[in-house]
Amino acid sequence: MESLLPYIPGEQPRDASFIKLNTNENPYGASPLALEAIRSAASDDLRLYPDPAGASLKRAIATRMNLTMDHVFIGNGSDEVLAHAFNAFFRGKGAVLLADIIYSFYRTYCSLYELPFRQIALDERFRCNPEDYCGACGVVVIANPNAPTGIAMSLRDIEQILLQNRDVVVLVDEAYVDFGAQSAIELVPTHENLLVTQTFSKSRSLAGLRVGFAVGQPHLIEALERIKNSFNCYPLGRLALEGAVAAWADQGWFDKTRRQVMVDRDRMTGRLRAQGFDVLPSSANFVCVTHNAILAGDLNAGLRLRGIVVRHFDQARIGNWLRISIGAQDQCDRLLEATESIVEACAGW
Ligand SMILES: *Cc1c(COP(=O)(O)O)cnc(C)c1O
Repeated sequence: MESLLPYIPGEQPRDASFIKLNTNENPYGASPLALEAIRSAASDDLRLYPDPAGASLKRAIATRMNLTMDHVFIGNGSDEVLAHAFNAFFRGKGAVLLADIIYSFYRTYCSLYELPFRQIALDERFRCNPEDYCGACGVVVIANPNAPTGIAMSLRDIEQILLQNRDVVVLVDEAYVDFGAQSAIELVPTHENLLVTQTFSKSRSLAGLRVGFAVGQPHLIEALERIKNSFNCYPLGRLALEGAVAAWADQGWFDKTRRQVMVDRDRMTGRLRAQGFDVLPSSANFVCVTHNAILAGDLNAGLRLRGIVVRHFDQARIGNWLRISIGAQDQCDRLLEATESIVEACAGW
């Protein structure tokens, strides 16, 4: 167990005066209807166990996707769903093929379940070439859009990877898909090797509730259920189930808030580029940036001095990049003022 390398989550500063743009949380609260549902679920019924199958939530998700309930698996955040998927589908299947720059929790799951993995280099602009994921000796995990780059893959490229790896499960993590990428869920009916995960943490502002789900053909969902029921029959409590069902139903709130995030992302991208930043094209609720005149470490320190926390990954290839979550409009403005003053201060040296 000493060799286990746990995932290190982004900092949650105690000082609430910090502008927190480091963990891709949504600046707009959850749907008021979801909060109301959670409040009403805080009742005497909490002495009873929740529905172990979470049927109400599965039904809601399946209906929206034009699928049946047996195509949906739900879990305590998509991290848990991903962990069960690694456990269910990747043991004894050769190496797990991962981009070299990707959500680092996947490497943690490989370490937890003792799975070999192989890193596939993204190109110089951090794009993924589907040709590099030719199966035979491995299983595939894709994040679309990718994290921490924000770069999305086309559905055509995803389909190419599915066709190249028909005998193994291809896992597509769509944690950020609602901010501008195309979901692969529409490929589920025609591809028996596809499992797609999504989360309520980002686009539905419920990171604190812990709800995630997977969509795939029933044989895959059944395997996940077997693992789940051998581990924890009740990963979602009554509050989480009620809140998630109500959040899922409130399409108006979902669209309004995610659109605002996308508008602010595009505005931030333009303004940061005007300040001399290289900003990767993002389809997520964050931007990944570097500056040709200032080291990311210095920029990170300068932002912190100005009360803004962003994410700096001390990792090869992206060590000189920062990932900045899209906050509310005034937080974006504060960020842009801060970067401007840092850039100006550097130019004066
Ligand atoms: C945030 C995130 C998750 C996990 O989300 P939870 O549902 O909160 O566990 C999974 N994958 C990626 C790429 C993420 O950024």
